[in-house]
Amino acid sequence: MTDTSDFLPTQPPDALAGARRPDPAPLNAVDLALPLVAPARRARVLLVDDQPMHLQVLRRALVADYQLFVAASGPQALRVCREQQPDLVLLDVVMPDMDGFQVLQQLKGDPDTTDTPVIFVTAHGGDEIETQCLMAGAVDFISKPVNASVVRARVKTHLTLKFQSDLLRDLAFLDGLTGVSNRRQFDERLALEWGRAQRNGTPLSLILLDVDFFKAYNDHYGHQAGDVCLQQLASVLKANLRRPTDLVARYGGEEFVCLLPDAPLEEGLAMAHKLLQAVKQQAIAHQFSGVADVVTVSLGVATRQGEGSAGATAADLLALADAQLYHAKHAGRAQACGAVLQPVVAAS
Ligand code: GH3
Ligand code: MG
Ligand code: MG
Repeated sequence: MTDTSDFLPTQPPDALAGARRPDPAPLNAVDLALPLVAPARRARVLLVDDQPMHLQVLRRALVADYQLFVAASGPQALRVCREQQPDLVLLDVVMPDMDGFQVLQQLKGDPDTTDTPVIFVTAHGGDEIETQCLMAGAVDFISKPVNASVVRARVKTHLTLKFQSDLLRDLAFLDGLTGVSNRRQFDERLALEWGRAQRNGTPLSLILLDVDFFKAYNDHYGHQAGDVCLQQLASVLKANLRRPTDLVARYGGEEFVCLLPDAPLEEGLAMAHKLLQAVKQQAIAHQFSGVADVVTVSLGVATRQGEGSAGATAADLLALADAQLYHAKHAGRAQACGAVLQPVVAAS
């Protein structure tokens, strides 16, 4: 089979237009209080079998409840997995060219698909093959000929487990108060983006942002109002970032950090000024601020400039952003300062 006929979404084509992975509904602070439930979107299930008749049986069992994709060979299955990121795969074991075990091995070896749960479907029953399937990393095993109720029940169970573990993983990376990324997520992403910038010689900007006179805000309006203010600021920051690779995280207390891959200093500073204005425009009353009658922020920008920051580390970038934030505070607050990270010259 060739390109477009390789896999056939069982939804109308426009339902998939432009889709790579549909972003799961974003979590916010309110969602965090909810029990573990499946997301509102329809779960995506990939059916893999070289026999059209078998695919048809599975399809009929599941089409009412899920968004289905089908693949008729191992290589097609791998491609659909990479491109569509299904939530669950029902995988035939015996196929020509590439069998189910080989497909599973490749899925496990790719960071993008390593967590995709796979249920093996095969006519070759028995303890031995079943054990082999589970040892290979499948989450379950269904025998052919398949029974529609059994398929539905198993699929439902494994999708529930999958969404629960996705949610737990997301929670581990989110700040409980504001719903934006937490420090752990930021640290991971900084290391990742730093490595990428180093390899590709691309710029990387970081903005450290601190609320001005926030102690006075808490003292006069109360800690709860302070919390609401932080939530509002987090939403404003998130709404103003541009690229999907930009990240906003709560760095701690009343400090936030934005990571802007591929952004040179001018872009980092432009974004800092945009955030500065966006926060002011929220017009959150602050009668006890020393610089304005609304809540304001100070920002420090630091940029790793392509090849020009040789020898420096991600920790140096953070330290520079912190130093620039300190300048902004001491220059009168409610402003942004920025600098390029200089190369580190080894002393001889
Ligand atoms: P500056 O302009 O120099 O930044 O002054 P500041 O008052 O903002 O800075 P300071 O470090 O003195 O005070 C920070 C305040 O932020 C004190 C602390 O109670 C408050 N804060 C930190 N985390 C939270 C939080 O999660 N919720 C609330 N409501 N307040 C917080
Ligand atoms: Mg602070
Ligand atoms: Mg502060």
